Amino acid sequence: MRGIAAIPTYVVMQPTTLCNLDCSYCYLPFRSADKRMPVEVAAAVAGSVDTFARAGRFSVVWHGGEPLATGRDHLAALLAPFGGAVEHHVQTNATLIDDAWCEFFAEHQVRVSVSVDGPADRNGDRVTRGGKPAYDRIMRGIDALRRHQIPFSALCVVSDPRPGAAASLYAYFLELGCEVLGINVEELEGVNKRANRHDAADVTAFWAELVAAWRRDPRIHLREIEWSLRYAAAVLDGSADDLLPRRLDPIPTVAHDGSVVLLSPELAGFHDPRYGDFTSGNVLTTPLGEILAAAAETPWIAEFLRGVEACRATCPYFGFCGGAHAANRYFEHGRFDTTETDHCRNSKIRLLEGVLDHARDHEPTAV
Ligand code: SF4
Repeated sequence: MRGIAAIPTYVVMQPTTLCNLDCSYCYLPFRSADKRMPVEVAAAVAGSVDTFARAGRFSVVWHGGEPLATGRDHLAALLAPFGGAVEHHVQTNATLIDDAWCEFFAEHQVRVSVSVDGPADRNGDRVTRGGKPAYDRIMRGIDALRRHQIPFSALCVVSDPRPGAAASLYAYFLELGCEVLGINVEELEGVNKRANRHDAADVTAFWAELVAAWRRDPRIHLREIEWSLRYAAAVLDGSADDLLPRRLDPIPTVAHDGSVVLLSPELAGFHDPRYGDFTSGNVLTTPLGEILAAAAETPWIAEFLRGVEACRATCPYFGFCGGAHAANRYFEHGRFDTTETDHCRNSKIRLLEGVLDHARDHEPTAV
């Protein structure tokens, strides 16, 4: 894997900066402001994306802010310019989902992923703008999805990865009925300055416990565990070098005003004296394909690519990780050409070690 691909597999769209919640670990800088994406921005992206979609499966992920805070009529207007070959997804806090939104998802074939961190006592960081717990509202939204039989994925932030937490968490999501589960260990990034350094043995044991729970009842696609097992299988059959994509997915994030940040959505909205505003262009003046073709000319991206090469040269986990995310390097180290971060220790190195520990504990004994 070297350099950046000219064609992404998905694009992240920010229909509004606004979020109706105020979670303590949120990284978004403008979540109390309602800056909405005009339809012209969506139309400009659609012009490029419909070409990308001809090359293979392509997704548009409506993120935020809280994308449903855009309102159904405006979100429908933003979806309208895209052709039928594109898959639409929303990543939502679920609190605004009601029967009318469920009908909207079905009508527009929008796939839904909800953010929920487990049972009520694990959602203490998820609060309304008035500081009240948001869990009941989240569950009302998920109940509406279940009533309408709309399949959904779940994204769970874990702030305290430790043994004893994973099995009950997995049991919760089995009960919830999601089809796919992603587990994100909380990250220090954006406006979230909370430390994310944890005891190595605790984090490894958390992942090992999670893989054990999943193997007992693998009804859910558990994103991180399935990635790790795919990598382990590829190492065993000698095909690990082919597992990472040949080039980095550029993951364009299109902000409400049409500006484009590549590789790490979390950098959108930030500014640094060395790197400027991290943008690589604006779809209102330059087609997205042209912005992507010139990606490596963005100064911070050239520095990040040097960091990826440093990872390749020094890190035994590179074949699994591919160099992790630009935003974590920036927000943890203030630059992009470094290697290890607490994020990659928690979510790459200890993940793989946890899966391997589980495998070692379950080796058949010699007879
Ligand atoms: S685990 Fe960390 S140091 Fe290793 S390749 Fe990934 S980002 Fe680089």
